[in-house]
Amino acid sequence: MTDLLIRNLRPMGASACDMLIRDGRIVRTGTELSADGADIEDAGGAIAIPGLVEAHTHLDKTVMGMGWYENTVGADLQAMIDNERAERRRLGIDPARQSMRHALALVGNGTTHIRTHVDIDTDHGLAGLEGVLETREALRGIVDIEIVAFPQSGLTVRPGTAALLDEALAQGADLVGGLDPCGIDRDPKGHLDTIFGLADKHGKGIDIHLHEPGALGAFSMELILDRTRALGMKGRVAISHAFCLGMPDWQRTEALIAALAEEDVAILTTGAPSREVPAVKRILAAGLRMGAGCDGVLDTWNPWNRPDMLDRARIVAQRNNLRSDADVIAALHVCTAGGAAVMGVTDYGLGPGSVADLALLPGTTLAEAVATGGPVALTVKAGRVTGRNGRPLREAA
Ligand SMILES: [Zn+2]
Repeated sequence: MTDLLIRNLRPMGASACDMLIRDGRIVRTGTELSADGADIEDAGGAIAIPGLVEAHTHLDKTVMGMGWYENTVGADLQAMIDNERAERRRLGIDPARQSMRHALALVGNGTTHIRTHVDIDTDHGLAGLEGVLETREALRGIVDIEIVAFPQSGLTVRPGTAALLDEALAQGADLVGGLDPCGIDRDPKGHLDTIFGLADKHGKGIDIHLHEPGALGAFSMELILDRTRALGMKGRVAISHAFCLGMPDWQRTEALIAALAEEDVAILTTGAPSREVPAVKRILAAGLRMGAGCDGVLDTWNPWNRPDMLDRARIVAQRNNLRSDADVIAALHVCTAGGAAVMGVTDYGLGPGSVADLALLPGTTLAEAVATGGPVALTVKAGRVTGRNGRPLREAA
């Protein structure tokens, strides 16, 4: 692999320097570096950050490139679930094609790592997984994709789903997903015992969607903590959304956050504007790992989200009332190193020896680059340029 020398970049907004990349890793940064035969990129004074991490999305759901989807469903969770399951077939949502479009759009916008949930249900079986596995293979070296086998339509309410999750884990899904054990299955013990049992059997982690609000969500969270302790799964469980941590009863949430910290349970947020959300500064101050994601993008659920983690940093910042430059940078942290910590990415960062996963942003300061938002000038994955000016270099079908 040819060396890459990037001239005139500013790591995290610091003074301009050059960066030499060899065999996919950062060798050093300094002034007036040279390397015989290296490919050279002039960053023009752009700010370098480690690659953006999309830590909660659904690559198998998007209708990107398929025309406008007229949504007649509204905001009822069960209705949205049932609608999507039916519409997948009617619209012809091809998981391989659509996940490729979605993932490459993220790459153009500076993303180097993705954690995606993939629907597993008794109507569609493992079709979603097979499509996303195809995309993961095709994009190897362009973006790293981690897959959560996700029982979107429920688990104990739809007999046969647990066996499909079992098969999905055997076929290459990296984690077991779950969904509102009380709200959807109305069987918290059955739901959680099943997903923790599968995680234990396959030696894999868990990332569970928990939309349940207030005391109900807190109850489910306590059951998750019980099982994390009982199975010795410290550091291998994540809770996505965790809306209950945004409830006003601070004494209850404080105790929950302390218990989550004790078991090193990670939190993933979308900064959902319409819901109570876990407070970024409280979660980070308690020492929890916290990442962020755009969730579903242009799908049958809603038309709002964009495949853009800089945009997501701004949404998370606004939802958390983050205004100072330091706080805006904290929102960026959640969308970069925070997500990387949740995904267990090793050798992440801008130091010597780190894997050269980078996004170069226009801007005079780091806070300005986040607040005013792109387009990302250059995306680099393990020393290879994968995106330029907000566009992926590889074309999607
Ligand atoms: Zn989700």
